[in-house]
Amino acid sequence: MKSILAFALVLGGILPGCFTTALNAAPQLQVSSDFPGGSARVLSLDPAGNTIHITPAGNPKRGWPCWWYFRLDGVDTNQPVVLEVTANQGVVLNGAPDKTRKLPINFSLPEYAAYSTDGTDWVHTPKGERKGDRTIYHITTTTSTVWLAWGPPFTLKDADQLIQKTCDLCPYAKSFVLARTRGGRPVPGVRISPPGAAAGPRFSVWIQARQHAWESGSSWVARGFAEWLVSNDPAAESLREKADIVIIPVMDVDSVETGQGGKEQVPHDQDEDWSPAPYFPEVAAGQRSLSALAKADRLDLFLDLHNPGPGAHDIDFYLPPVALLFPERVANQDAFFKIVREQMTGSIKFNGRIGPNSQTYDPAVNNVVDGWVGAQSRPHVVSLTMETPWNLSASTASGYLKVGKQLGRSIELYLQPTIRANTKE
Ligand SMILES: [Zn+2]
Repeated sequence: MKSILAFALVLGGILPGCFTTALNAAPQLQVSSDFPGGSARVLSLDPAGNTIHITPAGNPKRGWPCWWYFRLDGVDTNQPVVLEVTANQGVVLNGAPDKTRKLPINFSLPEYAAYSTDGTDWVHTPKGERKGDRTIYHITTTTSTVWLAWGPPFTLKDADQLIQKTCDLCPYAKSFVLARTRGGRPVPGVRISPPGAAAGPRFSVWIQARQHAWESGSSWVARGFAEWLVSNDPAAESLREKADIVIIPVMDVDSVETGQGGKEQVPHDQDEDWSPAPYFPEVAAGQRSLSALAKADRLDLFLDLHNPGPGAHDIDFYLPPVALLFPERVANQDAFFKIVREQMTGSIKFNGRIGPNSQTYDPAVNNVVDGWVGAQSRPHVVSLTMETPWNLSASTASGYLKVGKQLGRSIELYLQPTIRANTKE
């Protein structure tokens, strides 16, 4: 596109007729996804109709291939963009190495897609129109370049920028690299701990997101929490004073950067890698840090952030296996959920819904992170998976940021001396 215009401009000086012809030519509608997080296989392209038809390009072996994200150049701004997405029904793992299924179509087809005119600020498209295994979205735009995605993207660059901003706004926030992935990429995190923190009794919180790459909303919730935490809200100041906090906005950086789904990838799901011999270096590093915190009795709350299935309409939490639900943990979970229920109101709310958990705990079999953390830590420690719905009209970047802020306020209210009262030795 650029070279054609440049050519037209050069000729335009000599032969004005050529310039006019070039400007009136049909737009060079073009799809690009060769950037971090990008994923789209073009099925057809109709420049005259401003219409594109894609399907998510993920490899099912690298996780559920429902994620799509691409840039569209050469858009005719005189008519709406028509985006047709056909679901990727690739055969994926389903809970065990020997069980497979076709990925259900609803995972690839959000009711609203995300779009941006600058690649940074994301809003919803109008509601898509479902036709069998396809959804058609209509987007009116004034720019000839637009970015379109399954949901608001959040890549390694966004994680780096968030961490940098956190450190700029809070003098004692320190960035660190949790690990290098199998693909050699950094997994950045930030630790917020005021000077002299070790002097008195303090709480400690660990929040991580995106063990499932397609669940981009979970990174936005982490971002909302981080931005609130370094704000001048008195509740944020109070939380910074009483707790050391670690935030990892993207765990499975390799899958996020390569536009893969991540969930149920081969050899196994990252969320289920919390075993004695992890496959992912970032999980091994997380285990070392969390173990050290737990052994030093410096862990109080662990949260693993996710997005749930397409039908979820409210927030839900998953608990460690029943065998790890000691009386102190149950009492603290109940206290936390009561606060979250009061704080997480509005369009994306917590109605008290808790997912099913395993009755027994065997570290050789149960390798989900919330159970692993629950098994390492003192009985009072609350360890949860949190799922924020992605398929609502409110499941936008700003909606997720609000959930993150509400989560922060909930944590501040929850961290009271009573949560450690029964664990003195
Ligand atoms: Zn998940």
